[in-house]
Amino acid sequence: MILVTGAAGFIGSNFVLDWLAINDEPVINLDKLTYAGNLDNLSSLKDDSRHIFVQGDIGDRALVDKLLTNHKPRAVINFAAESHVDRSIHGPEDFIQTNMLGTFHLLESVRGYWSNLADAEKSQFRFLHVSTDEVYGSLSPSDPAFTETKRYEPNSPYSASKAASDHLVRAYHHTYGLPVLTTNCSNNYGPYHFPEKLIPLMIVNALAGKPLPVYGDGMQIRDWLFVKDHCSAIRRVLEAGTLGEVYNVGGWNEMPNIEIVKIVCGLLDEMRPRADGKPYIEQMTFVTDRPGHDRRYAIDATKIERELGWRPAETFETGIRKTVAWYLENEEWVKTVQSGAYRNWLETNYSGR
Ligand code: NAD
Repeated sequence: MILVTGAAGFIGSNFVLDWLAINDEPVINLDKLTYAGNLDNLSSLKDDSRHIFVQGDIGDRALVDKLLTNHKPRAVINFAAESHVDRSIHGPEDFIQTNMLGTFHLLESVRGYWSNLADAEKSQFRFLHVSTDEVYGSLSPSDPAFTETKRYEPNSPYSASKAASDHLVRAYHHTYGLPVLTTNCSNNYGPYHFPEKLIPLMIVNALAGKPLPVYGDGMQIRDWLFVKDHCSAIRRVLEAGTLGEVYNVGGWNEMPNIEIVKIVCGLLDEMRPRADGKPYIEQMTFVTDRPGHDRRYAIDATKIERELGWRPAETFETGIRKTVAWYLENEEWVKTVQSGAYRNWLETNYSGR
């Protein structure tokens, strides 16, 4: 049994779907179901007893203590977070609450549970914290990519709150010996990505005939990783990572935002041409840049490859093609998200496990 937090979100739901597709070990999914939590992502597991969903907050100590005591997981994987940079600029408080305080409370519950385990179980237990490359700050074009020893220089309330959580996780290892692992990953893309983020927003707006808003000059560079590759990296770190270590996870794929928009538009031109035959890129429009927008992130994922033999299976070309195809095949999912109807999913569809 493993406990996965935030697994109704984008990456967590992909993780659970992949996990249960390749092994039978059950999962308890603890998710608060904020606007970003969507159980529709996991509708294929509706009647699957290996997936136990519990609506709740990682900061709710009584609830987490009860889940740990009752289900005795051998690992906790923490995806739960407020994750959208723009939202953190407009309302940082939720980010402090969940990413910092929530992680703290979760660590405290896990520490209590772990310290009472029998020796054999204690040595097998793992707490894996899922984090971001944004904690490292911004790079200039000529800087080397982020390694695990890069100084933390978070620039947004989101990245600062994630940085704080990373430090707490580190401290719980050094102070209490808690068996932790941390992954810092670059930008993910793929199925079930909430359409407020760049790639799904471009696909959804393009199809709806709406403008494709690009911040500033569109030359902000990010590394991109197909979400299924992030999930395989997490499984690998869980299985073989050295306790207390940090692993950077990336796609070896740096690209300016504007290039992403052009590629997405090109794929849509090919797979779902506009009715008027014109290219989707005509819908692109430049908008005022995000305050404090980091210029470049780049991940050096040498360590995870050298020590754990992990490399992404997808190139950007193959991953983005799969992603655009998924959005074209799952327009109902997009509609449900846009209408907000997914928020009633629990009441109308879930059996209450
Ligand atoms: P997401 O916003 O899609 O999902 C977050 C999930 O956490 C949601 O289901 C939400 O309901 C849940 N949640 C929020 N607050 C909670 C709380 N207090 N208690 C319990 N559940 C709560 O995010 P995502 O993109 O899937 O990211 C997952 C994790 O991976 C985050 O920690 C994020 O920082 C990290 N990460 C994301 C990316 C990316 O590109 N999306 C890259 C690197 C790291």
